[in-house]
Amino acid sequence: MCGIVGYIGKNKASDIILSGLAKLEYRGYDSCGIFFYDELSDKFVTYKDKGRVSHLVNDFDYSAMNHLAIGHTRWATHGRPNQENSHPHFSRSHRFGLVHNGVIENYRELVATYLENVTFASETDTEVIVNLIDHFAQELAVDAAIRKTLSLLEGSYALLIVDTHDPARIYAAKSKSPLL
Ligand code: GLU
Repeated sequence: MCGIVGYIGKNKASDIILSGLAKLEYRGYDSCGIFFYDELSDKFVTYKDKGRVSHLVNDFDYSAMNHLAIGHTRWATHGRPNQENSHPHFSRSHRFGLVHNGVIENYRELVATYLENVTFASETDTEVIVNLIDHFAQELAVDAAIRKTLSLLEGSYALLIVDTHDPARIYAAKSKSPLL
């Protein structure tokens, strides 16, 4: 069982995410990752890898000021435990990033119907979700693109989604998987 954590607020987001991920370690996981918004440089930063939360904490730089972050501990269901398959995952345009707990059962059908021309960076079912959001956001407002995507998913999910065009908001959604 993996876990996801998101934070947006007054405190340093990366600190809150890393301590949240450490609290979720008891659930078991093979990889972990974090995605945060570096406000001074106006850049999004991603660290992710196979292995322990202590690796994420000790081997990367969190000196940047940040008040929005999402994080993930992964229990691989689709694709090996490795860096490419670790979350967060991104849409092909890199506009959207997300973390996912759960399994999307119809991801192959969704690729065949909507995403045939997309080259995926991972072996995960998760990457399909974030690319569907990007696909529908070409025509729809972001919340409508997310709702449209959710309406097509079969399986289980807890999701945290970040639109890099709007670094003051985290979208959350769940079905079957728990989300607090
Ligand atoms: N199905 C996704 C994957 O294999 C999420 C697994 C999880 O819940 O950690 O990456």
